[in-house]
Amino acid sequence: MFIDSHCHLEMESFKKDRDEVIKRALNDNILYILTVGTEEKYFKTVSELTKQYKNLYGAIGIHPHNSTQLNEHTEKKIKEFLNINKKIVAYGEIGLDFFKNYSPQNIQREVFIRQVLLAKDFELPIIIHSRDAKEDTLKILKDTKATKGVIHCYSYNKEYAKKFLDLGFYISISGTITYGKKQDAVDVVRYIPMDRLLSETDAPFLAPVPFRGKRNEPLYVKYTVETIAQLKGINIEEVKIAIFENFKNLFLNSSNANEGNNQ
Ligand SMILES: [Zn+2]
Ligand SMILES: [Zn+2]
Repeated sequence: MFIDSHCHLEMESFKKDRDEVIKRALNDNILYILTVGTEEKYFKTVSELTKQYKNLYGAIGIHPHNSTQLNEHTEKKIKEFLNINKKIVAYGEIGLDFFKNYSPQNIQREVFIRQVLLAKDFELPIIIHSRDAKEDTLKILKDTKATKGVIHCYSYNKEYAKKFLDLGFYISISGTITYGKKQDAVDVVRYIPMDRLLSETDAPFLAPVPFRGKRNEPLYVKYTVETIAQLKGINIEEVKIAIFENFKNLFLNSSNANEGNNQ
């Protein structure tokens, strides 16, 4: 079984064939899917999908690109969903994106801190998006004493991987690892301990080879996991089992997930 720990099934790209995409994955060999709502307009669909599919879980939060959207109203909405739907098992994705800078950096920092604290109130793991902002991300995680979460679509080097791991974070590898295998990325994959590793698609974005450039979907996570196994020089079964354990530990051990399973 494979696990897609981060995708965006509520986005418009899946409007026409969302159910087929999800069934294709779950009927094949994808055990769990976690879909991540990045702005308020997506939260309802995320919540509905988690109710529709047993092995599909959700996360909600305001993406750094949309930082200017976080206000009292949005916060209230987020709290409502988190209180009502126990299959929303993580808070995110939140963080800093100083590559695109779609929101001013000072607002990104403020909103990131605010949301780390909100996640803490709900005792939820956080899903971190961090691009060209490694020092600021680390500083905020340290200042807020955040310890539970994942750095999704990890894009920094091994030295920084150590720093995030030391704080307690998991590291998630996306399909970009199948693109030409840059040395820094290869070193990171080899370095991440088996008990801190996660796999993701970030669908509809970042489709792995052989689908690079096309719309991505959860089914394709297997190409990323195959590449991880090759780079680590171990059996793919070992990688699959490790990711399964890690996904359960991080996302399904919280009170939110357990209550969700009992419904
Ligand atoms: Zn992201
Ligand atoms: Zn994402």
